Amino acid sequence: MRFNHDVDVESFRQEVRQFINKELAPEKERLKSASQEERTNEEEYDYVMGFQQKLAKKGWLAMAWPEEYGGGGASHMQQLVYNEEMSYAGAPHTSMGIWWVGPSLMLYGSDEQKNHYIPKIANADDWWCTLYSEPGAGSDLAAMQTRATRDGDDYVINGQKIWTSGGHLADWGWLAARTDPDAPKHKGISMFMLDMKSPGITVRPLINMGEKHSFNEVFFENVRVPASQLVGEENRGWYHLAVALDFERSGVGAYANGRRAVERLIELAKENYSLVEQRPSVRQQLAERTIEVNTGTFLAYRVASMQAQGMVPNHEASASKLFGSELSQRIASTGMHLLGQFGLLRGTSPRVITDQGQSYLQAASSTIAAGTSEIQRNIIATRGLGLPR
Ligand SMILES: Cc1cc2nc3c(=O)[nH]c(=O)nc-3n(C[C@H](O)[C@H](O)[C@H](O)COP(=O)(O)OP(=O)(O)OC[C@H]3O[C@@H](n4cnc5c(N)ncnc54)[C@H](O)[C@@H]3O)c2cc1C
Repeated sequence: MRFNHDVDVESFRQEVRQFINKELAPEKERLKSASQEERTNEEEYDYVMGFQQKLAKKGWLAMAWPEEYGGGGASHMQQLVYNEEMSYAGAPHTSMGIWWVGPSLMLYGSDEQKNHYIPKIANADDWWCTLYSEPGAGSDLAAMQTRATRDGDDYVINGQKIWTSGGHLADWGWLAARTDPDAPKHKGISMFMLDMKSPGITVRPLINMGEKHSFNEVFFENVRVPASQLVGEENRGWYHLAVALDFERSGVGAYANGRRAVERLIELAKENYSLVEQRPSVRQQLAERTIEVNTGTFLAYRVASMQAQGMVPNHEASASKLFGSELSQRIASTGMHLLGQFGLLRGTSPRVITDQGQSYLQAASSTIAAGTSEIQRNIIATRGLGLPR
């Protein structure tokens, strides 16, 4: 099933497909690590930056941004189709800079910040990481303790962040820190752009259960940040961050990835029919996953159509994130069910049919990153349904 857009949007879809066929590494290679999360590692960094620079040259990387900031001025629907095709192909087509730092700067940055940082993001000159979570502040993010204390023309940062994806590769950090320790917890936070090469920053690797180094702990010891790198109003950072999180939770990527994964499992089932004969219920599971991918795609389209009308989706973005992340786990489980013991084989074993074990391990984090499923349900219940906290 495909939802057809206007003729010009659909002809743009064909143009994106042609570009992918010509410019993207062969599927077998890029499927080794098809998610954004898995791509934040050293082996893939040059490939990712090189591909994004090609996209930037075409004016596609930041295609819906205004032209004055190096964007392509495309419609939201064109961007949706572009994201859908790129994600379906497993292309490394976006970054935190593109996804939420640039859009947040457009809303809250000073003119100087917009003119300096946004074009560099649109050109894939800089890689950004996101510094929100702390050992004692994840779901309850407003409990963060990292301090930013004003000292002359600078702020001085002290504290620790955790789970910082790509922190070891980043040029810049999108940092939330406490500027007023005496204010109620949501009212004393500010946002900063932090040069990750600043003296006093230590980045320590954390290895995930798929044995990849994608996230890190980041420690700050008297790190000086010029006050000109404060974004928006001092102590209003929580509200800027909340909008950045809505950007992060939006997107059709999970469903486009999911569609490709389900199609691949269906192909595998047909090619290795003895696997299906051993576990016939996998046919029902594949049917269910197909319905869910189609249903979820509409949740993502709803978010995009709200953005196209100038609205900022909130609980709608949470609903899409929740369903998409839980679906990716169901798809990975269906894959394991199909492959049975073959699903446990990983790496270079000659009997590996497909590296389903890696996909299964990778999917586990999707319901935690960008806010857990429980937190998304809380948002939908309170802000969507108007139920009390
Ligand atoms: C792959 C991955 C990448 C990440 N990348 C980044 C990054 O780049 N930058 C960054 O800052 N962070 C990042 N994170 C961190 C992520 O945002 C946090 O892990 C997440 O918000 C959960 O916080 P926590 O781990 O502290 O868990 P906790 O908040 O301690 O939650 C533990 C459990 O309690 C539940 N819980 C907590 N509060 C409630 C509540 N009020 N109601 C119901 N249940 C509740 C949670 O749902 C969860 O099951 C990443 C995480 C992952 C997994």
